[in-house]
Amino acid sequence: MKIETIAVHAGRSVDASTGAVTPPLYLSTTFERDADGSYPHGFLYARNNNPTRASLEEALAALEGGVAAAAFSSGSAATMTIFQSLTPGDHVIAPNDIYHGTTRVLSEVMGPWGLEATFVDTSDIAQIETAIKKSTKIIWLETPSNPLLKISDIKKISELSHAHNVLCVCDNTWAPIIQRPFDLGADIVMHSTTKYLGGHSDVLGGAVITKHDDDFFRRIKKIQETGGAVAAPFDSWLVLRGLQTLPGRMRTQSENALRVATFLSLHKNVDKVHYPGLQKNAFYELASKQMSLHGGMVSIEVKGGKEEAMRVASRVKIFRRATSLGGTESLIEHRASIEGTESRTPQNLLRLSIGLEHPDDLIADLSEALHRS
Ligand SMILES: *Cc1c(COP(=O)(O)O)cnc(C)c1O
Repeated sequence: MKIETIAVHAGRSVDASTGAVTPPLYLSTTFERDADGSYPHGFLYARNNNPTRASLEEALAALEGGVAAAAFSSGSAATMTIFQSLTPGDHVIAPNDIYHGTTRVLSEVMGPWGLEATFVDTSDIAQIETAIKKSTKIIWLETPSNPLLKISDIKKISELSHAHNVLCVCDNTWAPIIQRPFDLGADIVMHSTTKYLGGHSDVLGGAVITKHDDDFFRRIKKIQETGGAVAAPFDSWLVLRGLQTLPGRMRTQSENALRVATFLSLHKNVDKVHYPGLQKNAFYELASKQMSLHGGMVSIEVKGGKEEAMRVASRVKIFRRATSLGGTESLIEHRASIEGTESRTPQNLLRLSIGLEHPDDLIADLSEALHRS
């Protein structure tokens, strides 16, 4: 089956007791035992498992082409769980242009716990190779990177990691459906379902999906069930609902982003456009090879520094000035402000999440905001 069909049907079936086509929402925290003490339906207590969460996990595994998934209360909880599955003293290599929360999890939470991390430019494989040591257990990728949209070569990096007996984990939040990390060799895929998978800026969630049913994934499930940072039933239901339209949304948002990025690349008040779908982008060839579309995220560097970037953001009417991404509405954000003092992001950078509005309206909005009298 093709991905559009999987998105509509995975994890969903007609409810046998009522004929309901849309899956019911199961809020029950506990499930009855049979007279013999067994659990005939496999459900025991909602932290361990819940039918609505189980449906979401089945759908996520099917969509990513993995064998199993674990759904969490946020993308960051999913990230934490992957790192907690390691052992103190282990070492992780991660990108230096990455979701700032992942940097924080590594340096401020997992660092004191005993995990060591090295941040490199993962778009340059030589830097990864240099950073590998005996204790390295995970090479973490986030591609396209955040917020500079650099592309890392998942196929080559997973080959390198396997040669060193290291897991290749890919945060695929920015490119669901349009980038298939498992086909390229990755072992684990992580998502913030808060973004494109939920797709409507109304639910927080995360997921870990595995290519192999192995001890590492069993450890992740153990931490999910024991620690309890699980996706709540209604949150699971909302993400499951969002998944149905994901392929269509990714297609339209990618098309809109290319239109907007092309316009911005020709604008005299824009210094740089970071979008791997532009032919003159340094990563165009690699992105076109490992992604079927170039995604809905665009970053620009405005001429005139931070002040001018803030001025542009202050003047938009259709774009919303907000963090996050992947919803139906377009967002604009001065990224360095939210990343805080340790940010490496250029001060004149604005990050755009392109939504489902008509691209002509988005272009008109940006044109007006960028205009200088
Ligand atoms: C938002 C995001 C996260 C964190 O997810 P939350 O759901 O906010 O905890 C992780 N990685 C990427 C790429 C993200 O955009």
